[in-house]
Amino acid sequence: MSQGLVTASYIVAAVLFILSLGGLSKQESAKAGNWYGVAGMTIALLATIFNPEITGLGWIIVAMAIGAAIGIRLALKVEMTEMPELIAILHSFVGLAAVFVGFNTYLDHEPLFGAMLNIHNTEVFLGVFIGAVTFTGSIVAFGKLRGVISSKALQLPHRHKLNLLAVVVSALLLIWFVQVEGSTFPLLVMTLIALAFGWHLVASIGGADMPVVISMLNSYSGWAAAAAGFMLSNDLLIVTGALVGSSGAILSYIMCKAMNRSFISVIAGGFGSDDTASSGDEEQGEHVEVTAEDVADMLKNSSSVIITPGYGMAVAQAQYPVAELVSKLQAAGVKVRFGIHPVAGRLPGHMNVLLAEARVPYDIVLEMDEINDDFGDTDTVLVIGANDTVNPSAAEDPASPIAGMPVLEVWKAQQVVVFKRSMNTGYAGVQNPLFFRENSTMLFGDAKDSVDNILKAL
Ligand code: NDP
Repeated sequence: MSQGLVTASYIVAAVLFILSLGGLSKQESAKAGNWYGVAGMTIALLATIFNPEITGLGWIIVAMAIGAAIGIRLALKVEMTEMPELIAILHSFVGLAAVFVGFNTYLDHEPLFGAMLNIHNTEVFLGVFIGAVTFTGSIVAFGKLRGVISSKALQLPHRHKLNLLAVVVSALLLIWFVQVEGSTFPLLVMTLIALAFGWHLVASIGGADMPVVISMLNSYSGWAAAAAGFMLSNDLLIVTGALVGSSGAILSYIMCKAMNRSFISVIAGGFGSDDTASSGDEEQGEHVEVTAEDVADMLKNSSSVIITPGYGMAVAQAQYPVAELVSKLQAAGVKVRFGIHPVAGRLPGHMNVLLAEARVPYDIVLEMDEINDDFGDTDTVLVIGANDTVNPSAAEDPASPIAGMPVLEVWKAQQVVVFKRSMNTGYAGVQNPLFFRENSTMLFGDAKDSVDNILKAL
């Protein structure tokens, strides 16, 4: 393959990646967006492998075969609810790759002098720094999502000062590294600091704020890839990394706005983990239990229904009977809509994906802002496996760990039915006063079984 053809292929791949991001921004075009991404990546891989400058093709093919075998196995095996964990661990690989590329290009590069050498060393240093932060930060995110690390915020004394110190010392080490030729020591010390910094940055963020962290790490992994692109002088890697980095940053910004958090304090780490906040995980009164038959009766007597799904719907895979319930209610003349919280589930757009899978029409699936004013005029709200996203204490209790996060105001409806298996808290570990309100009832059990039983009773 000639160098000209490689460059042309890179441009085509970059355009396809941009089209892919555009497609993924809307449900209707998401499938096409995915295919653009697949096509772009195939072209990018072929052009890179058959680049005339590449040697050791055999090794590359062996590595790709091993990687593809692991990737295909994981993708086939992973449950939808485990997707965020998978994404987090994949981000950690991008970070680790950037660290390896950094050390490799530092130890083995063409002879460079003067300004070129300084630029090269700065690239290496920044690439290793971003990669190391992404690596350990993503591992902590993986652990928190999987439940092997507590989702509560780690609150070391002077944690913000520790973060600042890590950045300042790393900046000084950069100056040392660039000014003293052949000094590996500052690079090694910075790597250790960056690994600890990434770990601490994410560990100090509390459960309810994890969605922003996930999209932020997505962004970091993009910048780590872009840094690797600079080190390897690969234009496509720079473009692709920048696309991932900036789209992840935009998504983080959107999620910060949706959760009423400051973007700057997210980047600084440890936001939303106010020392004075109460854990709020104690029970707060009596709850009323109902049966599937009772709920079927409530629905028969309702003219408007809103369903607010959450992580529990994903766990139970209840979206299919829920879609059936919607068709049945619509056939009986009931106005049914969905209210989707931006951080419902465990990854951005989680609920939209599930409902699309079950072929629920897009026009009845509304965002939180579009539906929040309508709860007051609604007869029945079905809260299916949602908890933090419908918690009134976010709006009413300034000491709550989720204070300030906008929530679906389901408690304003005539009656609310909460589908869950127990009185346990949601992801943020905060008790929900909704369960003890006069107009709330609890339908205990697996959400899929509960909806199936309602369908039978209707
Ligand atoms: P929550 O995690 O707050 O609550 C889910 C509820 O579902 C639990 O109370 C659980 O109660 C119930 N549940 C679990 N399994 C079942 C089942 N099989 N059948 C019925 N109920 C079940 O969910 P939300 O969607 O309301 O909120 C999402 C939370 O996750 C937020 O705190 C958000 O910040 C966080 N998060 C979101 C991310 C994102 O990008 N969207 C990423 C990371 C975290 P029980 O055990 O009693 O059944």
